[in-house]
Amino acid sequence: MKITVEEDKCCGAGQCVLVAPEVFDQRDDDGIVVVLHQTPPQEQYENVREAAAVCPAAAIEVHE
Ligand code: SF4
Repeated sequence: MKITVEEDKCCGAGQCVLVAPEVFDQRDDDGIVVVLHQTPPQEQYENVREAAAVCPAAAIEVHE
């Protein structure tokens, strides 16, 4: 699995961080998403898929 994000789309809602805090973080200054693990460990796959699904801006792309 590989994760990419479109920062332009991200509105800083933070849903991804709530669902998968070990994989996503937010920049301190503007709240834009930061991917901590672009190729996350397998035990995070479900959380990552859910984070992509709940992102209101559809900014997270999961490549499997
Ligand atoms: S849930 Fe989507 S819009 Fe919100 S911080 Fe994460 S990537 Fe950005």
